[in-house]
Amino acid sequence: MYYNTILTPTVIRTGKNILGKLDEILESAHLYFPKKILITQENLFEIYREKLVPEQYDEVIFCKGGDLAEAREMLTKIPSTSAVLIAFGGGSVLDLVKYVGTQLDKPYITMPSALSNDAIYSCVARLTYNHKKKSSTVQPPMGVIIDLNIVKMCPRELLVSGAGDLVTNLSAVKDWQLAHEKTGEPINELACMLGRQSALSIWDYSAADLYTDDFLRDLAHGLLTSGLSMTVAGQTRAASGSEHMISHAIDEFFPEKATIHGVQVAWAFLEIEKQLRKDEVFAARLQEFYDRIGLTAVIADNIPWKSEDLRKLIPYALKIRKRYTILSEA
Ligand SMILES: [Zn+2]
Repeated sequence: MYYNTILTPTVIRTGKNILGKLDEILESAHLYFPKKILITQENLFEIYREKLVPEQYDEVIFCKGGDLAEAREMLTKIPSTSAVLIAFGGGSVLDLVKYVGTQLDKPYITMPSALSNDAIYSCVARLTYNHKKKSSTVQPPMGVIIDLNIVKMCPRELLVSGAGDLVTNLSAVKDWQLAHEKTGEPINELACMLGRQSALSIWDYSAADLYTDDFLRDLAHGLLTSGLSMTVAGQTRAASGSEHMISHAIDEFFPEKATIHGVQVAWAFLEIEKQLRKDEVFAARLQEFYDRIGLTAVIADNIPWKSEDLRKLIPYALKIRKRYTILSEA
């Protein structure tokens, strides 16, 4: 073959007040399912009941989310008939449905209630097993529906976290390029391009823009483009580098000190720039972006680590996965 074939979502919809228009959206994409099953948390369902229009669904299943044991239990609850699963919630609900949909080979659609990380469209689900978060490879969603009026209601910290997760693609791409140069690891330039461009799409925004439609749409599209970079490459390299290894090491070995994913990776990214990559000009620009978008304050509120702790975390991060990054040279 002269070309790569990639599976992209059939439905991508970003707009206002579209949560209750699932039937319309599916119909306009010429998609028909005998059964539509909504999977969400009970408290979210109560808060957004009116906007969700529950009559659209044949069944509603409540979950806590984020837990592998619960996901495995849910496999037995889903009917074997042809059905589409609709995940509504934060990363923990979306990741649970990604796992369930993949295991049952059922199509699923994600409808995020927040834009706090790139879980909305990715080929990885992070679920807790024995008190530790583990990554599973999953099939990406067949659709993503983002209601800007819903994600607008999420706390400021979560939006800043979404910006943090997205901007760290700049770090991930640098690590991939380094691995390519040093070890000859194959690189996918199209995936790198999508990873970098998605990060740069929010680079000019400030904290005052967080709740504007322009920022939310760019953040949503950035997270989707980031997910596309993973689908194109068939792996997470363009969206997950040394900073994600540090964050995963905190989740795995110091779960009591773990915090919001996007904030954690953003902290690790800045420290890696300052201490390991030592590109002072870029580190200063990154610091300026963090100050402007509000990451500096959110990091100060949530991260219990000091700058010098980065070095202590590196040996743990190297245990996470065999992936050549700047940490391999530290
Ligand atoms: Zn991430």
